[in-house]
Amino acid sequence: MSGRVAGRTIIVTGGASGIGAALARGFADEGANVVVADLNEDAAQALTADIAAAGGHAIAVKVDVTDRETVRSGIATAVERYGRLDAYFNNAGMNAPMKFLDVSESNFEAVMRVNALSVLIGTQEAARQFLAQGAGGKVVNTASIAGRQGFSSFAPYSAAKAAVISLTQAAARALAEHHVTVNAFAPGVVATPLWTKLDRELEEIGEGQNGFDSMASGILLGRPADPADIVPTGLFLASSDSDYITGQVIPIEGGMILV
Ligand code: NAD
Repeated sequence: MSGRVAGRTIIVTGGASGIGAALARGFADEGANVVVADLNEDAAQALTADIAAAGGHAIAVKVDVTDRETVRSGIATAVERYGRLDAYFNNAGMNAPMKFLDVSESNFEAVMRVNALSVLIGTQEAARQFLAQGAGGKVVNTASIAGRQGFSSFAPYSAAKAAVISLTQAAARALAEHHVTVNAFAPGVVATPLWTKLDRELEEIGEGQNGFDSMASGILLGRPADPADIVPTGLFLASSDSDYITGQVIPIEGGMILV
């Protein structure tokens, strides 16, 4: 298979569902060796079987992005199988909507761990592998427009995604001398299983007015994103086309931020 990422080994965390699964399929379609790293091992394996049936190269690894040991072992498995690592997508994330005054310390910490601490751990461990290989490598983080705007029903999540943006910039500065680039993309509203769960939980806490339909109504291009809308930017950031770009956050939100 040929393509912009042909022969590259790319790890996608949270790769078993939604945006991560679309990226994994998109990378495999363009000839990459894809490592689907997810807490949900069954879903990761089902996806890699699908990719293999379509003639692509993919393996599944069970990883908890908040647990450094599993992150390390996921990278080791990828390198053992495909010989090297070229790009690492810190994409796994979760959200737990809450009224602002109800957010507790433990709520805040739990959301920060999965969305932000995971980016620190994943970037450090991927960078260690890149340095062991010599130089070069790409880290790509999934931020969110929530990290720029701060949504009232999603305060911990918004804070965590702001942290993802800062970590992207800090890591880009720290790793540039090793020719490792670190970038992020910031989706707006993407139709994935995450939103199905969010909509239900927003209703339960009486904040249904902040759900998917209301967010999507503020999109200039007139529709929410499909996970497939994220793939071209993912391919760009995983390929040599983006070699001279680092520390940047690319919005993919249909003009939402302008509204
Ligand atoms: P999703 O729920 O469809 O997929 C998330 C995946 O992450 C799941 O497969 C889940 O098993 C995995 N995961 C969760 N916790 C994990 C952990 N601790 N370790 C390993 N894997 C874990 O969600 P999605 O909508 O595809 O979201 C993907 C990313 O995009 C997230 O970072 C999310 O915050 C971000 N994002 C989503 C939207 C949106 O509108 N859907 C918008 C902006 C940003």
